[in-house]
Amino acid sequence: MPDIIVKPASLKELWKTLPGLPAARRYLAGGTDIVTADNAGVERSECWVDISDLPELAGVEETAAALVIGAGEKISGLERSAAVRRWCPVLVSAIPHFASPSLRNMATLGGNAGNASPCADGVCALVAEGAFVRLELKGKRRRLPLKDLFTGPKRTALRRDELITAFEVPKRRHAGAYLKLGPRSYFGISKAAVAVAAELERGAVKSASVALGSVAPVPLYAAGVSAWLAGRPLSAGTAVEAAARVKAEVSPITDARSEAEYRREMCGVLLERALLSLAR
Ligand SMILES: Cc1cc2nc3c(=O)[nH]c(=O)nc-3n(C[C@H](O)[C@H](O)[C@H](O)COP(=O)(O)OP(=O)(O)OC[C@H]3O[C@@H](n4cnc5c(N)ncnc54)[C@H](O)[C@@H]3O)c2cc1C
Repeated sequence: MPDIIVKPASLKELWKTLPGLPAARRYLAGGTDIVTADNAGVERSECWVDISDLPELAGVEETAAALVIGAGEKISGLERSAAVRRWCPVLVSAIPHFASPSLRNMATLGGNAGNASPCADGVCALVAEGAFVRLELKGKRRRLPLKDLFTGPKRTALRRDELITAFEVPKRRHAGAYLKLGPRSYFGISKAAVAVAAELERGAVKSASVALGSVAPVPLYAAGVSAWLAGRPLSAGTAVEAAARVKAEVSPITDARSEAEYRREMCGVLLERALLSLAR
């Protein structure tokens, strides 16, 4: 545990409090990653800044063009949101694969991105949905495509103390699927995961975006196969060819969970199955 935990009541109070805090500080949201890492002695901080009740990070709101999901929203809350079910089919498909119901009651989407794991299920789904991430630092705001937030395993483009405040998912009618291969069918970190969002028109793919988890240093947007899918019929032949193409786009490693070549192969299998599921 850190020496100090502070809990500002608002963003305004957060920006006022930060300068007086120890330099080795981290944000604490649901704590499912940060507390686990602290208990394991992997990461230590002098200070945690508890952002779990910041009202500015809460809620799911619809604007004319986007669904805005607060970074502090719990994964289980998203599961229950009618707006999320309407506009984020990939995320909805990913949620049952996310840890366990009790973990989903604690874990936030902001923490999933802040932890910057290549196997983050929520992030991978949102990258396929074409999401943007809203950031804020001492009142200054910026917005990035979510796929550009990650620079390496556990590394992001976040500036020091910069806070993820929300995710913006463009409102467009699309179908989505999320398939994850893990050591068990339930409650495990993935060996590989595939997220697909596709706008469909009369049996063809109008546009598609494919994202992959656990097969690259970051949650990966597969730009090549996404572009290739546009304009193709949504057929078994297209799914097989897309599967062959996606294998060339990933750079998996061998680690305790799986071997590189198996992961590459499974990306193809999962993408083929995901595309066929959209055709049904
Ligand atoms: C047993 C177990 C199973 C798990 N299974 C899965 C799984 O199946 N899929 C999956 O994707 N993940 C899984 N996880 C990982 C974890 O639950 C998720 O990454 C979760 O979304 C983290 O959210 P949190 O709110 O708990 O983050 P925290 O632990 O509070 O924070 C994580 C990191 O993000 C930073 N952070 C948090 N919020 C913000 C913010 N708003 N702005 C900037 N930085 C921020 C923190 O400083 C910290 O570095 C699992 C974890 C455990 C312990």
